[in-house]
Amino acid sequence: MTSETAYEKLLARSREVSLIGTTSGVLGWDQETYMPPKGVAFRAEQLSYLAGLAHQLGTAPEVGEWIATCEGAPFAADDERNVNVREWRRDYDRATKIPADLVTELARVSSLAREAWIEARKKSDFAVFQPWLEKIIELSRRQADCWGWTGTRYNGLLEAYEPGARADQLTAVFADLRKTLVELLPAAKARTASVDPRKLLGHYPVEKQKQFEQQVAETMGFDFEAGRIDPTTHPFCTGLGPQDCRLTTRYDETNFTFSLFSIMHETGHGLYDQGLRRDVQGTPLGDAVSLGIHESQSRLWENQIGRSRIFWEYWFPRACDIFPGLKEKVSLEEFWTIINRVEPSYIRTESDEVTYNLHIILRFELEQALIEGTLKAADVPGVWNSRFKELFGIEVPDAARGCLQDVHWAMGGFGYFPTYTLGNLNAAQIFRAALAQNAGLENEIAGGNYGRLLSWLHKNIHEHGRRYTPNDLMRHATGEPTNASYLGQYLKAKFTAAE
Ligand code: ZN
Repeated sequence: MTSETAYEKLLARSREVSLIGTTSGVLGWDQETYMPPKGVAFRAEQLSYLAGLAHQLGTAPEVGEWIATCEGAPFAADDERNVNVREWRRDYDRATKIPADLVTELARVSSLAREAWIEARKKSDFAVFQPWLEKIIELSRRQADCWGWTGTRYNGLLEAYEPGARADQLTAVFADLRKTLVELLPAAKARTASVDPRKLLGHYPVEKQKQFEQQVAETMGFDFEAGRIDPTTHPFCTGLGPQDCRLTTRYDETNFTFSLFSIMHETGHGLYDQGLRRDVQGTPLGDAVSLGIHESQSRLWENQIGRSRIFWEYWFPRACDIFPGLKEKVSLEEFWTIINRVEPSYIRTESDEVTYNLHIILRFELEQALIEGTLKAADVPGVWNSRFKELFGIEVPDAARGCLQDVHWAMGGFGYFPTYTLGNLNAAQIFRAALAQNAGLENEIAGGNYGRLLSWLHKNIHEHGRRYTPNDLMRHATGEPTNASYLGQYLKAKFTAAE
């Protein structure tokens, strides 16, 4: 068989697997939005059937042979088909290295562990979750060994979310960031403490909120002919195909900003999705590269833009038009202060731009130690609480607001947490590069015009798909690999600027 023929077969298989994946996506989206509760059991069967089918098609022996044929006689050096072959190899190896019994055991244990975690969190009783955490750690270690790793076992797990990332490099970047954040925290807190956030509370009807956020998302460049927004409990963004991207949010009628920032975040993910190349859809070149890059797109729109002064100079008067009474409650300056309030708190998902990354740094340290075996599951609450006190200066009141707050470990997601902070670091670095490479861009953004920024993001981030590793993509777009200086500079400028 020639490389040409083998490639055509791989292409057809890749698109078939992608058809199954996006079909599962529709079922998953429906489950999280409109499905009646009694549909859950059958839906689980449907999803598990499709997952099994996709796995079987993707890991079949002939796929390995086709990849080997393409590798044996590679295309010309500048032929982008080599990128797909390289990434198909990566996916194939990772999927076939895990024996079937470990896959089944991981699925079984993580679903039971999730149940135990829900109960443990409700009762704030770590002992309920501890035996399951021990099992999950053991299975995750086996998984890393099957995949193979260099340096440290944790790297094998990290690779699943952030190709090419290494724990020692992340440790160095996060150490720089932590130093900046800890130094900045008192000033940022003082800078934003002057306005009582309750001043913003009022009655913001859901219909009005929908109207406002639709305007914002559309102006950001989200194509509503190729996407939509629906309500859910836990907001997310999912691409159901090249022209169908679904955003979700939840509403709080006392404060419109919760849903708005959640929509801006998910729209950032959605713009990445809508910016992927359609001509290579269903192959790695048409796919997002990593969680850390995906999160950079959501954080760029949510924080770098959405929490800036220039954004609200444009949008605050519009918000006042839609929500009568808003301008009597707060001035623009007070509004900015409220949406940027910095205050150490227990819950990661409710935290501000400064302390958020301290939450991640804490989890990153602990999960590495758990995987390396230098920390026992039983010691997690004690170590969590004392590290939390050191970083945030406050006592953790109970396990529900401490080590039990996140679902990630219950799902076997070791290596996932650091991608959140990578997203924040990348967002600051990418936005800075966009401003530096596009004279006058800031004025356009101030005028509510985001077209040139979005085109730049399409060209420099989205359209590359999985062509580069995340760090190489950052080098191409910004001239440097991910580092802590840009987020540090941005936060310092924001929270210590003179009035
Ligand atoms: Zn996100």
